[in-house]
This record gives sequence, structure tokens and C-alpha cells, in this order.
Amino acid sequence: MTATAHALVGGAIAASIPNPAIGLPLAAISHPVLDMIPHWDLGMGWRKKNKITLFAEAALDLILGIVLAFFIFGRYIDPIYFLACVFFSEIWDILMMPYLLWGWNFPPYSTAYKWQHKIQSNIKLPWGILTQAVTVYGVIWALRFVR
Ligand SMILES: [Zn+2]
Repeated sequence: MTATAHALVGGAIAASIPNPAIGLPLAAISHPVLDMIPHWDLGMGWRKKNKITLFAEAALDLILGIVLAFFIFGRYIDPIYFLACVFFSEIWDILMMPYLLWGWNFPPYSTAYKWQHKIQSNIKLPWGILTQAVTVYGVIWALRFVR
């Protein structure tokens, strides 16, 4: 999914689950689980994009995600815990970036890519953004009951 979707889920986990021993692993697990749901993201067709475009899009997506998640979930909780949850929710894509950008074809970068490539379920726009919005909304809604 987009970094924005992952950051929103990471932020919601930080706001709902104050215990880092549960929140951080849950944020890390949320990533592959979300990626199994059919979705669109900027990584689709990455081989055909030039590296600067790829990097700029990924960076913007990540920044947008952190800012949005901060305004919705991060303002009233410990900022370090908030950032840690967001970081863990993105960790697999962050690990995969050196493989995509610089061709670092060795672990953990290549492992992150191969593993993500296997479980990733991609569909085209506009459905790919709709499934994502519904999923993220559903997860945030469900997390309200944890608090
Ligand atoms: Zn991913």
C-alpha cells in the first residue's frame, strides 16, 4: 500500500495501544497484512520509472503520511512512540528501497523485496485506492474499541 496508508495505521496503533511491547510488533505486522489486500501504490511499475522519480514519489508519500498521521493521531501521545510506530509500520518498504533505488541485491534488502513481492496484491486505479481507503478506515475504526 502507499506509505500514507501504512503511516495512518501505524499512527492509529500508537494512539490506541500505549504498550510499546504490543504496539511496535503490531505496527510491523500490519504492513504485510495490509499489502495482501488488493491495492494500488507508487511502487507499481517501479522498473519503468527513473530512480529520481521513484525516490521523490516515495519520499513525498512518506512525508504526507507522517504529517497526516501526526495531525490525526500523534498530537496527544509521546512523539517518540508515535514516530517509532510509524517507522515500524513502514519498515518493510524502507528495507526494500535500497534494492529498488541502488540495486542492493543482498539481504536484508533483497529479502525484503522478494518477500514483499510475493505477498503484494496489486490492482489498478481507481479501485486500488478505494480498497485501500476502506481498509485503512476499517482498521482505524476497529482500533477505537481497543482503547
Ligand atoms: Zn509494502
